[in-house]
Amino acid sequence: MKVSPVEQLFTLFNETALLLQEELNCTYLEALAETGENLFQGSILQDEVSELTEKRLSKQYEQIHLKNFSNEEIRKAYQLVILKGMKESVQPNHQMTPDSVGMLVGYLVDRFMKQSAFRLLDPAVGTGNLLTTVVNHLPKKVSSIGVEIDDLLIKLAYVNANLQEHPIQLFNQDSLEPLFIDPVDAVIGDLPIGYYPNDVRAADYQVKADEGHTYSHHLFIEQSVKHTAPGGYLFFIIPNGLFESDQASKLSEFFKEHVIVQGLLQLPISMFNNKDTAKSIMILQKKGEGVQPPKQALLVDLPSLSNAVEMDKILSKMEKWFQENKG
Ligand code: SAM
Repeated sequence: MKVSPVEQLFTLFNETALLLQEELNCTYLEALAETGENLFQGSILQDEVSELTEKRLSKQYEQIHLKNFSNEEIRKAYQLVILKGMKESVQPNHQMTPDSVGMLVGYLVDRFMKQSAFRLLDPAVGTGNLLTTVVNHLPKKVSSIGVEIDDLLIKLAYVNANLQEHPIQLFNQDSLEPLFIDPVDAVIGDLPIGYYPNDVRAADYQVKADEGHTYSHHLFIEQSVKHTAPGGYLFFIIPNGLFESDQASKLSEFFKEHVIVQGLLQLPISMFNNKDTAKSIMILQKKGEGVQPPKQALLVDLPSLSNAVEMDKILSKMEKWFQENKG
């Protein structure tokens, strides 16, 4: 049976990560980042490995030439090995953004962004899966920036970007602390949901809660808007009940002053464990000179993304909306 390119790469990543995991006595995901770096640099960078393991690794690496694979093949295989590693231990807020959502975000970014070249920020970049899915689907020149607080995830994102040869600028820091980046034209983000523990930092934000901890996803939205140029677009994956929480009035005030809601696409409930954890893609535009609200926001209830017939109908509806509102 013919082995697909993604399977070939999966086997390479997996088997070399397992070899390194045993030799370095680390987690599978740490070993995956190490093997990815070896592949990118074209040499075995870990001094600790025995001669025998070095030989076994070299044999595996020699069988595959990354230049024979597309970026999407590399990303998909890397995503599958990360998913395997994440089964060992991962917090819900660290989960990778699924492909189907990434591709939808890619489609939306492409349709909204008229410029042939622009700056894109993902302030919760995680493994880089969402960011590289979007970049791989954009027929545009994108200069991207990712921020992530978790050391291991940003290492995986860095290796992901290298293997796909995307020049992504990555910052390993809390995105809600000051960000030293120039304004961007677009933001994407699968936002971490929950309370932000640092009340002192949250106090610098307009959406801060009157009492207790503020929702981190609210703070992420404000921080992202702050770093977007006037007229720029923001695409967030948010909980469905965003405007029903006890802190929603603060967020609504912020929205009224700073952004226009361009669209809200509810993801199919079947993608989530239950309706309370279901999410939507929200599209915002930062206010600025000449920025006009759409005649009507793009409101879509997405069917199961594997239902091709229903998805086609929805895509036609969205195209009609773009023609009427975005000329
Ligand atoms: N889109 C990412 C991907 O494809 O891998 C997944 C994003 S995940 C749902 C949310 C990410 O936000 C996690 O990687 C988490 O570590 C990160 N995060 C949470 N709080 C953060 C903070 N204060 N600053 C920066 N990153 C943060």
